[in-house]
Amino acid sequence: MTIAQTLLDRSGNVCELCGSNEDLSAYTVTPKDEEILVCGTCKEQIEDNSKIDESHWHCLNDSMWSEVDAVKVVAYRMLFIMKNQDMLDMMYLEEDVQAWADAGLPEEVDEDALVYRDSNGVILAHGDTVVIIKDLPVKGAGFTAKQGTAVRNISLVPNDETHIEGRVNGVKIQLKTCFLKKS
Ligand SMILES: [Zn+2]
Repeated sequence: MTIAQTLLDRSGNVCELCGSNEDLSAYTVTPKDEEILVCGTCKEQIEDNSKIDESHWHCLNDSMWSEVDAVKVVAYRMLFIMKNQDMLDMMYLEEDVQAWADAGLPEEVDEDALVYRDSNGVILAHGDTVVIIKDLPVKGAGFTAKQGTAVRNISLVPNDETHIEGRVNGVKIQLKTCFLKKS
């Protein structure tokens, strides 16, 4: 595979995650399809999380501050997979970069880490329909989400098992799971 010259120039011909110059190749950061330059070790562990060697990823201490959004996205995802909350808390991502990072998080880790339950303890999943069990004023939106309102096709708020997201009155809002019942 040929590596784009722009990528080689930007990276200084080393892995943009760990600085190694061995077995370099381009890694495409989905879903935006921007490339970063990675070494064989990083690539193998990114693509097969069962091979993760946490000691290798101390390199993220530096690369998490990269000026390249795609590098930060990969750093964020790896820290998330390794459940390194301290480092995640230190990272600052612009909103669109955060959304990009979140879009590529492996779902099984998501589900392992957090369980979302309604007011009865029933597990909630992406795409479920829930019913609001008490009137809820919606901050900033200027209306009340009424008791009995069905919210279809919910999504789970990442890293917060107490909130889901869905549309009420055509507005996308976050709702506390303790005020919801799965229908
Ligand atoms: Zn590397």
